[in-house]
Amino acid sequence: MLNTKLLVRRLQPGVLLSEEEYTFLIENCTEEDREYLAHKAREVCESYYGKDIYVRGLIEFTNYCRNNCYYCGIRCGNGNVSRYRLGREEILSCVEEGYGLGFRTFVLQGGEDLAYTPEEIGSLVSVIKKKHADCAVTLSIGEWEREVYQYWFDCGANRYLLRHETADKNHYEKLHPKELSWERRVECLYHLKEIGYQTGAGFMTGSPYQTAKNLAKELLFLKELNPHMVGIGPFIAQKDSPFSDYPNGTLQMCLLMLSLVRLALPKVLLPSTTALGTIHPNGRELGILAGANVVMPNLSPVGVREKYQLYDNKICMGEESAQCRDWLSARVESVGCHIVTARGDYIGMVQK
Ligand code: SAH
Repeated sequence: MLNTKLLVRRLQPGVLLSEEEYTFLIENCTEEDREYLAHKAREVCESYYGKDIYVRGLIEFTNYCRNNCYYCGIRCGNGNVSRYRLGREEILSCVEEGYGLGFRTFVLQGGEDLAYTPEEIGSLVSVIKKKHADCAVTLSIGEWEREVYQYWFDCGANRYLLRHETADKNHYEKLHPKELSWERRVECLYHLKEIGYQTGAGFMTGSPYQTAKNLAKELLFLKELNPHMVGIGPFIAQKDSPFSDYPNGTLQMCLLMLSLVRLALPKVLLPSTTALGTIHPNGRELGILAGANVVMPNLSPVGVREKYQLYDNKICMGEESAQCRDWLSARVESVGCHIVTARGDYIGMVQK
């Protein structure tokens, strides 16, 4: 007979349970187990990164997207979105503002928008890197050919975020139209790693049709892929999407998965996401206490933020970047950690 207390105690850093054991733990763990795991995950995180929390300035530069992921607010099938694209100068001015505020990582995120050619993206990356050699550039613009990933890497991009969304192929097919394939998504992640990017995978907790077994699989999948970063946030229903009537992911499940991922991959860079801050007023602080060590405040121009709503009720829509940063900084201090200016690379990974 499985017992959550015993399973929880077996979870030393880097130790994995079996799929069955994780499933049992996820289905049966008590408040006390969750608190124990969170505490342990924070301890493990601090053994590598101390109380430092890294910040990434997120620039949402386009909400055009050719894909139609059922959960996402900016999917191409949503006719109720007012679409925008930031021009090169606008993007660069977000970077300048962020640099002045102490950001040393810029994340260029967007829908899969073919209006930007690979050359344009590459040139943007090299301009940022030339101007600020002390900064890291992260791209988060979906699935591309290996050659394109390689080209952007050669232009100076350091990191790439591409959530796999779910480790289970059948589940993936329930969340995406048939043009999108789980194998292709995972292949992209392996390409990114092989090229030398600090690579971020990730998934939503509480997405429609997700089971405890799916979540158990996440941990085994991540251990195998061994990414440098893992983005985890609760699913949040978007009113114009086919999943508008599905319940949001819970705070507890997201925190539990953060802790389990921290314990499985002790050195991983783990953001406490905006989605977590959206479902609970203290979500991001609790995320840090459960083992996260990255926050990603928004640097997009205030005028376009409303339009980049992947889900409903997203927070920080109105504040200027500086306000957002100060507010987050205070939140992070309230749980005994502090935001640092350092680039925050994966431990032991030296990159230009
Ligand atoms: N187009 C890029 C990045 C933008 S989407 C890409 O494909 O990687 C960034 C992430 O937001 C997605 O990977 C997804 O996990 C998350 N997301 C989208 N819709 C969401 C929703 N309704 N609730 C919570 N997270 C969502």
